[in-house]
Amino acid sequence: MTDWIARARALAPESGLFIDGSFRPAADGETFETRAPRDGSLITRVSAAGEADVDAAVSAAARAFESGSWSRADRRERQRVLLRLADLMLENLDELALLESIDSGHPISDARNVDVPNAARTVRWYAEAIDKMYDEIAPAPQDALALITREALGVVAAVVPWNYPLIITAWKIAPALAAGNSVVLKPAELTSLSALKLAELAAIAGVPDGVFNVVPGLGPVTGAALGRHPLVDKVTFTGSPAVGRAFLGYSAESNGKQVALELGGKSAQVVLADVADIAACASSVAWGIFYNAGQTCHGGSRLIVDERVHDELVAGVLKVGASLRLGDPLLESTQIGTIASEKQLERVLGYVDVARAEGVTVHGGERVRPDGLDGGYYVEPTVFDGVDNAGRIGQEEIFGPALAVTTVRGAAEAVRVANDSPYGLAASVWTQDISTAHTVARQLRAGTVWVNTFDVADVITPFGGFKNSGSGRDRSLHAFDAYTALKTTWINLGDAPLNND
Ligand code: NAD
Repeated sequence: MTDWIARARALAPESGLFIDGSFRPAADGETFETRAPRDGSLITRVSAAGEADVDAAVSAAARAFESGSWSRADRRERQRVLLRLADLMLENLDELALLESIDSGHPISDARNVDVPNAARTVRWYAEAIDKMYDEIAPAPQDALALITREALGVVAAVVPWNYPLIITAWKIAPALAAGNSVVLKPAELTSLSALKLAELAAIAGVPDGVFNVVPGLGPVTGAALGRHPLVDKVTFTGSPAVGRAFLGYSAESNGKQVALELGGKSAQVVLADVADIAACASSVAWGIFYNAGQTCHGGSRLIVDERVHDELVAGVLKVGASLRLGDPLLESTQIGTIASEKQLERVLGYVDVARAEGVTVHGGERVRPDGLDGGYYVEPTVFDGVDNAGRIGQEEIFGPALAVTTVRGAAEAVRVANDSPYGLAASVWTQDISTAHTVARQLRAGTVWVNTFDVADVITPFGGFKNSGSGRDRSLHAFDAYTALKTTWINLGDAPLNND
């Protein structure tokens, strides 16, 4: 077994801003702390991009776009460079995984087996798609040719959260770069380190100067400056609903730039009385909420269960929860790591108090200190049983390892309760009846619905929400629509003027 703790001690992460092809400190010298949630220790101080730095990054991105070094490069050249980037990510698997693990609290085994390979696969997938996308010819009159082509938008600002830093970054930058845009990435302040390593690898892969910039910093400063910058053509944002709405405001106050929002969730796992295998379902329900300590936007944080299978299912979920190895993310045996920050820890524990005040039965709900790590942010898998879906525990996104269980009778009531939510990111339904499966899947108001499974995901399918969960879609070929504009070109093939008859 690798001694990841020793390797983490030997790390010297990059901490500058990456602008126009090189690392530099912030213009005003500002920095902020980044701490390891496994024990609360300081990892390093990261440069904090101010307005002047954001302007430098966006201007470099706009200049690079105008120069055509990437935007008008041969498609196969863009493909070659992005395939090289995907290879470099895998060649640097251990370092990227270690940075992700110490910064975010993801177990090192997940970082190595899921986060980095998944992000690299996303970059590879969009690179491979570059020379497989065709434009359109409209059915114009005989003497006319009407072309409908896609063009890159220009400068894309990607603003991402801390819960899956590399994966969500890849969802955004891979299609944006593949389409020929320049990108300015703002990682979350809790998790900047893997993004900075990615910038280094992108430069080595051959992404031209100015085409990919990374500006770590504080949301209300760096994020707002990007949102308001007049040379940014599009913001692609993943994060909380409140900040997502702030970006709509920044756009309205500045240049009306496009804003795509991927926001939070309160996803319902609906289990009907005819579920085939309660043990398998319990395992799926438990992993659907406890994976990544519940810090998953589409995490199945509500269990809506028919009263006829409630007791057996909840007992099964509790059993799986108790069996999960919660501990130091740097141990390979750990299955569930930490909450990302002290603030998030307090937020999650605060909801345990809310649950008690709402008369809910609380199983778990305690902070734990595994492996003698006093300073870390660990919460045991928690089940809130007997939840009134209309209360705060049923309605609000907790973003921790906490499952809210609401009991119903029959599919119609289950659907009504599942849809009684401001969110609509994902949902699942468990039933053996094929008609019920299709009917309920259609009725659930969510961007992704799983039947007899949960959290199957791949770059091949779109991901995004209904309602307060946002309107943007990451992943799949549809993501190219988000980073391109359609251009119409009319050509007169004849001698006479074309008319509109
Ligand atoms: P957040 O909204 O606080 O931060 C997201 C990003 O916005 C960060 O980079 C942050 O620095 C920046 N930001 C914060 N305040 C800002 C401001 N005033 N102006 C401009 N930028 C600002 O979200 P978070 O706490 O990092 O992430 C958790 C949230 O993200 C949860 O609600 C979760 O459900 C959601 N999420 C959604 C998806 C999805 O795809 N739908 C995926 C992951 C996370």
